[in-house]
Amino acid sequence: MKRHSRAICWLRRDLRLADHAALYHALKESESVYCVFLFDSDILDRLSDKQDRRVEFIWQSLLELHESLVKLGSALHVLYGKAKTEIPELARKLDVQAVYCNRDYEPDAVRRDAAVEIALGSIALHRYKDQVIFEDSEILTGSGKPYGVFTPYRNAWLKKLDDYYLGAYPVARYLSALARCEPVDFPSLESFGFSRGKLEVEAGECGAEKVLDDFMSRIDQYHKARDFPSLNGTSHLSVHLRFGTISIRKLAELAYRRGGEGAASWLSELAWRDFYHMLLCHHPGLAEGHAFKPQFESIAFSNEVEKHAAWCEGRTGYPLIDAGMRRLNLTGEMHNRLRMVCASFLVKDLHVDWRWGEKYFAAHLLDFDLAANNGGWQWAASTGCDAQPWFRIFNPVTQSKKFDPEGSFIRHHLPELANCPDRWIHEPWLMPQSDQQRLKIFIGKTYPLPVVDHAKARVATLAMFKEGLGKH
Ligand SMILES: Cc1cc2nc3c(=O)[nH]c(=O)nc-3n(C[C@H](O)[C@H](O)[C@H](O)COP(=O)(O)OP(=O)(O)OC[C@H]3O[C@@H](n4cnc5c(N)ncnc54)[C@H](O)[C@@H]3O)c2cc1C
Repeated sequence: MKRHSRAICWLRRDLRLADHAALYHALKESESVYCVFLFDSDILDRLSDKQDRRVEFIWQSLLELHESLVKLGSALHVLYGKAKTEIPELARKLDVQAVYCNRDYEPDAVRRDAAVEIALGSIALHRYKDQVIFEDSEILTGSGKPYGVFTPYRNAWLKKLDDYYLGAYPVARYLSALARCEPVDFPSLESFGFSRGKLEVEAGECGAEKVLDDFMSRIDQYHKARDFPSLNGTSHLSVHLRFGTISIRKLAELAYRRGGEGAASWLSELAWRDFYHMLLCHHPGLAEGHAFKPQFESIAFSNEVEKHAAWCEGRTGYPLIDAGMRRLNLTGEMHNRLRMVCASFLVKDLHVDWRWGEKYFAAHLLDFDLAANNGGWQWAASTGCDAQPWFRIFNPVTQSKKFDPEGSFIRHHLPELANCPDRWIHEPWLMPQSDQQRLKIFIGKTYPLPVVDHAKARVATLAMFKEGLGKH
């Protein structure tokens, strides 16, 4: 005899059937389980681009899920509206006794779930850990406090990792408990006011598996290749982790069992992901623009609109920055090294508030995740939990020479510099006029002059941070 006769499994950022905590518990504890996804109008209304790649990714993943459910004699219920009205309404209509879902740690989502729980009344809302390996307070310091620095956190994370935390939920064993449903038409993306066309990656569980297969053939080189944007050195799994089209346990397990330097280095990145989620849980004010280190709340950024626009549009005159930003605008993707360098450049060369950059990335990144994006921005701005001091400032030219030594990433994304000789590719403003004439690359005309002088900007940054600290 099962606990419930009918239940809903409410999918959110976990768009898969395999190794799914909430679905596993729902199927095991209920006779009949309906799978539901809600296009949340509160979230969709905030998106100004009606061809948003993320929405397309979700829709594509849901279509795949729906087709898998139909093959199993069930279907995916797709709703649109506000969670606190739509979920309880459907729960009452289907006469379920419980709603199962996986925990979401973003402050807005926590508030949403609390409101849904109240609106459900006597219908239970069961929540599970699924999105991370270790959630909020599972990894604490010796004195029972959350970590504020990554390296000791990662050491504790690795120490605690074992078969129990890595084990998959055997959903397949219980699939017979899926509710039998008459075939229903799957709603079009257009019916929610969005359209398709921009997404360049394959969504869904199938898409994730292909990306993983490819990465597993390269994982042993990860530690050597991961910092070079022109190499195919990283996994490209972030969007799949963001929307849960693959299980974090599966990925961590693969890396853990494989061993070796490449896999160990990659596992460490997965720990960063948990770390930032943990931080957001303990410091929900991060989502409201607060600096992790309060002493950096009152830095007087000059916030020049024209400099911000040059950064957004990839016309700062620093080729590596411009190539990174143009790639982001074109595809929604940006390599981690470039995220660090572009973020640092905005804050420490252009003196624009990191919150402006965070917002721009949030609007454009395919894998946008509040915890990781905020963590990354605050790390780059030195307002976050970086062990490095605030006076560490990336030099955009040195970074360019080191991580795109032949300029191949730059040339690919800046066609106007395609013929630029290696000698000038990282700092084309130094190219003599005679070379500019010969190559038809006119700095200041066909490619911009640097919007700032890095050496001067650096001095101003040091003063700006010192003054901000003084005010604290
Ligand atoms: C300013 C800035 C903003 C960022 N914004 C985001 C974001 O919105 N969403 C996002 O997923 N990542 C973000 N990152 C982290 C990182 O850049 C991306 O996760 C990575 O580039 C994704 O590519 P990949 O899947 O090939 O990564 P891999 O190198 O293959 O890493 C594997 C996975 O580990 C996780 N990961 C890797 N690095 C980090 C990190 N520094 N912090 C947290 N998780 C990490 C990701 O889930 C990633 O998919 C940001 C970093 C910076 C510096």
